Parts: sequence; C-alpha cells; structure tokens
Amino acid sequence: MNFELDEEHRMLRNAVREFAEKEIMPYGKEYDERKDYPWEIFRKAAKLGYVGGSVPEEYGGAGMDYLAEAIISEELTRADSSIGTAIDLAVLGVPMILRYGTEGQKEKYIPPVIEGKQPSAIAITEPDCGTDVAAMRTKAVREGENWILNGSKTFITNGSIAGHTIVMAKTAEVEPPHRGITAFIVETKTEGYEARRIDKMGLNCHDTAEITLKNVRVPTQNLLGEENRGFYQLMGFFNESRVKIAALHIGMAVGAYERALEYAKQRKAFGKPLIEHQAIQFKLADMWKDIEAARLLVYKAAWLIDQGKANPALSSAAKLYASEAAVRVTYEALQIFGGYGYSKEYDIERYYRDARVGTIYEGTSEAQRTVIARSLAGKIGR
Ligand SMILES: Cc1cc2nc3c(=O)[nH]c(=O)nc-3n(C[C@H](O)[C@H](O)[C@H](O)COP(=O)(O)OP(=O)(O)OC[C@H]3O[C@@H](n4cnc5c(N)ncnc54)[C@H](O)[C@@H]3O)c2cc1C
Repeated sequence: MNFELDEEHRMLRNAVREFAEKEIMPYGKEYDERKDYPWEIFRKAAKLGYVGGSVPEEYGGAGMDYLAEAIISEELTRADSSIGTAIDLAVLGVPMILRYGTEGQKEKYIPPVIEGKQPSAIAITEPDCGTDVAAMRTKAVREGENWILNGSKTFITNGSIAGHTIVMAKTAEVEPPHRGITAFIVETKTEGYEARRIDKMGLNCHDTAEITLKNVRVPTQNLLGEENRGFYQLMGFFNESRVKIAALHIGMAVGAYERALEYAKQRKAFGKPLIEHQAIQFKLADMWKDIEAARLLVYKAAWLIDQGKANPALSSAAKLYASEAAVRVTYEALQIFGGYGYSKEYDIERYYRDARVGTIYEGTSEAQRTVIARSLAGKIGR
C-alpha cells in the first residue's frame, strides 16, 4: 500500500493549483455578487484539459484517471467554492453519455462540453420529488420516430445554459415504478424546452434552473442507453458523480481551513495570536483531521473506479463524509474569523454558504446513509 501520489498526479495538482490561484481565486467575490456564469474561466480551464479530465482523448478529453479528476475538482474549489464547482460541474451529463451512449451520441455531444463551448446538464429532480426518483411524473410517449416529452424539472444545474440536458422520464407505468424510467438526450434549443434560473443561498455564479418540457420532440436516436433502464443507469452514474462532489467539498474545506489558519496566525486576542488559544487550536486540529479523513475516503473511492470496481457504499460514504466535513469546517472557519467571518469582506461567508449544498444535492446525506445501509444488508453490490 502506498499513500503517496505518484509524480504525474503531483505535477497535475501543482499545475491546476497554479492555474486556479491565478485565474479563479481573485474573481470569487466578483462572480458571487454578479451571479454570472464564469464563461471565460470555463473556457480557459477547458483549454488546459481541466474540464472532464477523465474523458477519453477520442472525445476531446485528457484521458486521465478518476483520481486525477478528483485532484482537479479539489484544486478548483480550494481556489473558489463557487467558480470551482461551476466549472467542474460543466460536465454533469457527460458520464451518462460516456457510459451508456452510442458512438454517434458520444461524438456529437461530448466534445462541445470538453472544449468549453457549452456545459451539459442532467435533469432528474422534479418539483414534487427529488430523493424519491421513481415518483417522477415527466413522461415520454413514443410517436413514430420521436418521443414526446412533457413535464417539469427543478434545481437543474446548467439547465438554462447547457447545450444538451439528459432528461429522465417515465416511459412505462409499471410496478415497481423505477422500472419504467428512461434517459433522453434533449437538445436545449428544441421547441418546448424552457428554463428559468432559480435564485438560491449560495453557488451564486451557477446556473440552477427550473425546466418546463411542453411537447418536446426528441428523435428516437436520442434515447440514451436502454428503454426503461434509466434508474439503473442513474445508480451507475452516481457511483462516479458522488466521488466528484465529494472531491469538490474537500476543496471547499481546504480553502476555508487554509484561510482560517492564516487568519488565526495573524489576528490577536488577549495579547497573543488566536492560534495560541487552545479553543482555536482544537478547532483547527478537528478541521485538519476532517479533511485528511475525507481525502482518504475520496481517493480510495476514486481508485476503485479506476480499477473498474466502483463501490456504491464507498462512493456514498465519500460523498457523505466529505460534504458533512465541509459543512463543519466552513462553519468553524467562519467562527475563527469572528465578526469578519460574517462580513462580505472575506471569502469565508461564501465558502460557508456554498458548502452547505453538499449534504443535499447528488443525493442527500439521508439518501447516502440509506445506500450504505442497503449495501451492508447485502441488498446492493458492495
Ligand atoms: C444547488 C442545487 C443543484 C442541484 N442540481 C441538480 C441537478 O443538476 N440535477 C438534478 O436532477 N437535481 C439537482 N438538484 C436537486 C437535488 O438533487 C435534490 O434537491 C435532492 O436530491 C433532494 O431532493 P428534494 O429537494 O426533492 O428533497 P426531498 O426528497 O423532498 O427530501 C426532503 C428531506 O427529506 C429527506 N428524505 C427524503 N426521503 C427520505 C427517506 N426515505 N428517509 C429519510 N429521509 C428522507 C431528505 O433527505 C431531505 O432531508 C440540485 C439541488 C440544488 C440545491
């Protein structure tokens, strides 16, 4: 067993860090206030291969392994919680196409994302159901050479700026209902696809949208994977995407921790730096411990993906632990900054707001615990 990153991964980390400190870090506050998508930074990152790093070269990617992808995610959010996630999640729908798409679908839809032209989205959640995926009501009905989609989705990352959205829809009314879900690649310029941006607590520069689908005609060749197998495809997708979200939250925790550590060395109270007060030392020790533990889980889950042995329980554990750790770490970082932590003068309040979503999206903490428990009970593959 070897806990050292190899030379290639170390060099990658250094290169992404250099890029992120120069091109992302100085702009976090500005994009948070403007609430604009960071198009220019997205394009720059794409040019360097930092968008969808693990996508194979034939579809425009850098062909890296998943551990490399996790390192990139971490470095992007260390520099800024909001811009970092926006860029990293530009590839959201891509793994579904990579895993289940035809050659034609891969060639058509993946390169524009990886080249930084337009992000990709995946629409599962609906106004009346999120965790209970099988309760979705968006419907797809076959009509000749098309499928006609009707319904609504909500909280869709990149929903109004993506070139395509992977839309999950009901194609059969069966019991159990999760056996009647199918994935479709919907081009967002298609008539009847309407998206409206949602305002939220954090991740302000993200495009998070509500989508309405009114008689959207999707050609049969845009059905993704197998009809009525969408739910199972999603579970495979989550095994990877949850590790990415976990890595993003390690980055946020690191970003907040480093800023708090620096502040604790400089700010004085009762005649000595904060870091010399035991209460602050204990906070920093716990923050560091949380980050180290989260990283071990995430790197192991990523390594398993690279071995072709993705483990649902471990992917969920990595996501659960890293996202909750990021909430704890950003909370304590803000506390160390005192009143300044609560002001807009420093980055910490943004990290605190942005990290909070980690226990909610890509499956809530409760859903992750359910996956782990089901796995322990032998109900899903380990
Ligand atoms: C910023 C942001 C971006 C997002 N991006 C996307 C995206 O790109 N695509 C997409 O499809 N969705 C996206 N989502 C939606 C997200 O995945 C859902 O919000 C999440 O899955 C929870 O669903 P819900 O909001 O409907 O909550 P609900 O499912 O209604 O859950 C409410 C609460 O009840 C708990 N709960 C539910 N069922 C159980 C149970 N059986 N046992 C115990 N507790 C339970 C939940 O854990 C939660 O605490 C995004 C959300 C946000 C906030």
